[in-house]
Amino acid sequence: MSKPRIATTSLCGCFGCHMSLLDIDDRILALAELVTFDRSPINDYKEFQGRCAVGLIEGGCANAENVHVLRRFREQCDILISVGDCAISGGLPALRNMVPLAECLREAYVSGPSVHNPAERIPDDPEIPLLLDKVYPAHEVVHIDYHLPGCPPSADTLWQALTALLGGKSIELPYALIKYD
Ligand code: SF4
Repeated sequence: MSKPRIATTSLCGCFGCHMSLLDIDDRILALAELVTFDRSPINDYKEFQGRCAVGLIEGGCANAENVHVLRRFREQCDILISVGDCAISGGLPALRNMVPLAECLREAYVSGPSVHNPAERIPDDPEIPLLLDKVYPAHEVVHIDYHLPGCPPSADTLWQALTALLGGKSIELPYALIKYD
């Protein structure tokens, strides 16, 4: 019987949630026995190889490419999980939501204290993904099945959630894994 496939992506995140996944230490060997990794920064596959049982989403949507990737994950994955506060609420990148996008761009590229840009040109190469008006949490773009909070969620949280789902059970996390004091 073929193993279930899991895919992961980092949208507008810092890769800290992926680091936390790698922090399951030697259990990564057990995970490799349980699943096949599909599209993921872990194996650097850029395209899906097949239908996936689980997709892990790190980061919210800050630009058009993030939206495209997230929609692709929703199409290809049976269960989609927002991993970490950036996917769940936008996280730190969403601090820019309080400032109009035009002002953010001007501060970053024209009038910031360390900027030298006499032509006052704001980068607009078509290869650069268009920034959205604000940073959106993943569930405001596609349906998300589970949220795993934390910045990042701990390795044990990720391990317990993944092994429960892959075993066909619902996720039941003990209080110790979801408290942050
Ligand atoms: Fe990084 Fe924290 Fe956001 Fe995860 S939730 S991508 S660790 S800032």
